[in-house]
Amino acid sequence: MDTTDAFVGLECIGCGASFDAETGTHRCPDCDGVLDPAYDYDAVDLDRETLEARPFDSMWRYEELLPFTRASAVTMDEGATPLVECEKLADELGVGRVLIKDEGRNPTGTFKDRGQTLAMTAANQHGASDVALASAGNAGQAAAAYAGRADIDSHVFLPSRAGFTTKAMVNVHGGDMTVVGGRIGDAGAAYADAMAEHDDWYSVKTFVTPYRHEGKKTMLYEIVEQLEWAVPDAIVYPTGGGVGLVGMYKAAEEFRDLGLIDDVPALYAAQATGCQPIVEAFEDGRERHDPVEYPDTICGGIEIPDPGASPWILEALRESGGGAVATDDDDILEAAVAVAKGEGLEMAPTCAAAASGAWELGERGAFDDDATVVILNTGAGNKDADVLRSHLMGQGV
Ligand SMILES: *Cc1c(COP(=O)(O)O)cnc(C)c1O
Ligand SMILES: [Zn+2]
Repeated sequence: MDTTDAFVGLECIGCGASFDAETGTHRCPDCDGVLDPAYDYDAVDLDRETLEARPFDSMWRYEELLPFTRASAVTMDEGATPLVECEKLADELGVGRVLIKDEGRNPTGTFKDRGQTLAMTAANQHGASDVALASAGNAGQAAAAYAGRADIDSHVFLPSRAGFTTKAMVNVHGGDMTVVGGRIGDAGAAYADAMAEHDDWYSVKTFVTPYRHEGKKTMLYEIVEQLEWAVPDAIVYPTGGGVGLVGMYKAAEEFRDLGLIDDVPALYAAQATGCQPIVEAFEDGRERHDPVEYPDTICGGIEIPDPGASPWILEALRESGGGAVATDDDDILEAAVAVAKGEGLEMAPTCAAAASGAWELGERGAFDDDATVVILNTGAGNKDADVLRSHLMGQGV
């Protein structure tokens, strides 16, 4: 495989076993734990000047801290998204600065592209002919796009309530789509049945491939570099499976251990009250979530009732000094509209859970007056324009 110099293989976060990337392709064969890419950080020669001298052109500019070489990547120059100053929001939250990391400007309109570029590069290097996943929508669209680029067939399992745009675009990218009645769990069951019948399908599903959180970690690298190496006081993240959250936590520790930053930012998980397993576990001081029996929120991307990586997510929240917050769908839709009106930025409902959560945290006094708060806009608002518009119709507009 075409791996980078410092990458040493995959480490199980459950039992600590190590595997090389040829043989460890998905979950741990010993304990079924998540595999995490590992590096020899002494072999990483990166300083601020070196990074600053590079064009801000793609997440692959952090190649030394990724498993595969940029030359071998299945990439569309994803990442390198803007960090947009939002002065009105800062006033409303009563903090020094609010910045929105606008992941809507990725090739398929969400940060899922960061995960799929890496997962598809791995699939390609493993010689996969077919990839498969279950998804709430955006990951399926991203997978279909990157698979097409790598001449790999994709099989995407979506719940019926996945957004119209994602379903349409899976088809447009040439993916084989199965829409399953019900919710993400039902799509997951159909995916599992299909995987059992096709032992040559290569999974690119959340925390089944070791590479999606690894791709998403680059968001944190970019944020601190865009802040000229200042670590923000808080990062608020719309949390479903927590892939991006644990990725950013890992990235912050890496940058700190490499001496590029001094501190780890406080990470906050934002959820919707209709599906808030992480918030409940955090507030109860538990190490693991209880699955939500009847999830119901308009925020499809974070309607994840059974996030398997919850111990890792909760550790990231607690160790970073952050927290967890949930707001209801009405407040979330209001936040999306307020940001679009006041700042111009288009947030999908799922992502607006982070804006709404930041508001709520501000009201609870979680932030200092001079705090710098970063809100992740994980996906473009126009992917769910119908949902946002119908919220206005509900108000007679
Ligand atoms: C998938 C998704 C999320 C949740 O991501 P996790 O990292 O799994 O928590 C948030 N926002 C959008 C737009 C998504 O597509
Ligand atoms: Zn293990």
